[in-house]
This record gives sequence, C-alpha cells and structure tokens, in this order.
Amino acid sequence: MYTRSILNAAREIRIELAEMPAEIASDHVRLRLATASICGTDMHYFRHFANAGFYLDRPVTLGHEACAFVEDANGHGFAPGQLVAINPVINCGACENCAAGDINMCATKRFPGSATTKPHIDGFFRDLFDFPARCCHAVAETVSPDHLTFAEPLACAMHAVNRAGVTVGHKVLVTGCGPMGLLATVGAVAKGAEVDVTDLKQEALDAAGAVGARTGFVIGGSTPPAAGYDVVIEASGSPHAYNQALDAVRKQGTIGVLSLIQPSEVPINLHLNALKEVNSIGSILFTSEFADAVALIEAGTVDFEAITAARYPVAETQAACDLMAEGRAVGKVLIKPA
Ligand SMILES: [Zn+2]
Ligand SMILES: [Zn+2]
Repeated sequence: MYTRSILNAAREIRIELAEMPAEIASDHVRLRLATASICGTDMHYFRHFANAGFYLDRPVTLGHEACAFVEDANGHGFAPGQLVAINPVINCGACENCAAGDINMCATKRFPGSATTKPHIDGFFRDLFDFPARCCHAVAETVSPDHLTFAEPLACAMHAVNRAGVTVGHKVLVTGCGPMGLLATVGAVAKGAEVDVTDLKQEALDAAGAVGARTGFVIGGSTPPAAGYDVVIEASGSPHAYNQALDAVRKQGTIGVLSLIQPSEVPINLHLNALKEVNSIGSILFTSEFADAVALIEAGTVDFEAITAARYPVAETQAACDLMAEGRAVGKVLIKPA
C-alpha cells in the first residue's frame, strides 16, 4: 500500500491508500518519491481543474517536478535505492523535432499530471510510481533530494536564458520573483550575467538576492533604468511586466518570455518592439538544459534553501496547494513522502 494525492475537483484534493499494479511496464522503473515540488502549472489545475483551456477528463495526481529512489529497476541497470532526477517529458524519439534535439517541440510528447496528455498520466505527488527508465538520470549520492527536485523548473528557466542569448557580462533584468523568476536568476547568474530583479514583495527580492541578484526593485516603489538591460527575462505572467520589459530593455536587446501571459485587456506597447528593434523570444520547457540543470545542482553552488518556501508530506498536499494559492509563499513548496 502507498499514499497518493488526487485532485478530485477544483481546490479539492483527496488522499488515499492504493495498491501498485504487480506488473511494471517493460520500459518503466518503479520509483519511491524522494522530493517533489509544486509548479505554477499544477496550481492552474488546482484552481480550475484545467490549464490554458484544457480540462482534465478525470481526477488526476498532479506533479511533474520530482526526484526519486529506484524501488525496482525492472532490469534497467539502476542500483536499488539509487537517487534519480526525473525528466518528465516523454518524447516520441522518432519525429523531426526529436531528431533535432527539440524534445519540447515533439507533437506527440506525453507529460504527467497534464490535461494535454490523453489518456492522462498521473503525476508525482504520491509515494510510489512507475516512469520510463530513459527519463531517469542517476545522480551522485551526495546530492540533496530537496535540491534535485529543482532540476525540471531550473531546466525551463535555463532554456529561456539560453534562448535569450544571455552571456558573460550581460546586464539582465528578471521581472517577477516567483519560483521561475528566482530560477531564471540562478540560470543567468550561472552564465556570468549581472542580474537585477523586480517583484511586488520585498521578501521575494531578498530571496533573489540570496541566489545572486544584485539590485531588486519593488514594483510601485522604484523602477529599473529605462533601456538599461541587454536582456529582460519576463517571469511574472503580467502584461504590465511585459510593458516594463519593453521599457527596460536596451535598443536591439532581447526579451525572453518565460511566463504564459494570459489574454487580457491591458494594452501591450508593441510599438516599442519596432522602435527599439527588440527581439522577443518565447520559451517552453527545455531541451539539453535538463542535463545542465542537474549538473548545476550537483555542483552544490546554489542556495536552494533560500528559495524554498515550505515542505509538506504527500498526505498534506491540500495544505501545500492552499498555501501556494494564497500567493504569499516565497520560493518553491516541496512535497515529501507521506
Ligand atoms: Zn514545472
Ligand atoms: Zn517526437
């Protein structure tokens, strides 16, 4: 028997004891949760039972950010108890995009805890689960699982940083210091950039400072210098922040869009795109950055504790999601075994 959480309906998570199937699919391994973390995507499902207009067909276990211990290697060569990082993208491996290494563009890729994957695959907010062996990456025993769970969101942030061409000596502004903005800060600092940040909350700016940001601007209090940045990474999802990015980016600079800015009534100052010859570059998931993220975590140089808000056992997934939904948590909320 193991404990799993299931999103039953919007804002309603039930906890139950379940039995794993006796058989493990031949290309899968059986994993025991080490640490998982809550993503903004999970919160969309928690709030609406849907994300970006895609509704869940059935109650589902959320969670796509996790690391785990190998419970049953099922013939795939992992040592029992081996700690693995989990790449949640199950790409087809056969299409043109996959051949080019662009696994994030694979049209038939599957993803746990997501309405876009049909039939849905249950996610990682549970004590035991099976997952494809090729998605599991063994790491050194010295790595903290509470750091390793950052691999997937850090890979997403590093992909945006790479797409925006951030390099040594660049002046970078990150708009929004939610978990993705904090991890974009980590990624840009790792590239050797000088990073400033904006947020509504001073505590979020302080967390960014702990992972290498230089100057923090509280929105409504102070304003980043106009045309002061080679690259702006938009990580807040606010159309106002996108307008801020258009102001703050230098002429012929780049805006990397890491967030999903939802349709809204707020006018976007797109004339600045033309007048300043701004490159605006979107970003979704990651390609080779998953390995880079794991390597950066293994290096042990990032203070992930400073960007961790709280920890809850699987049995208290409801409380963990409620805390996130309140919007007061700074950093990631982690899910630990029940
Ligand atoms: Zn995520
Ligand atoms: Zn493919």
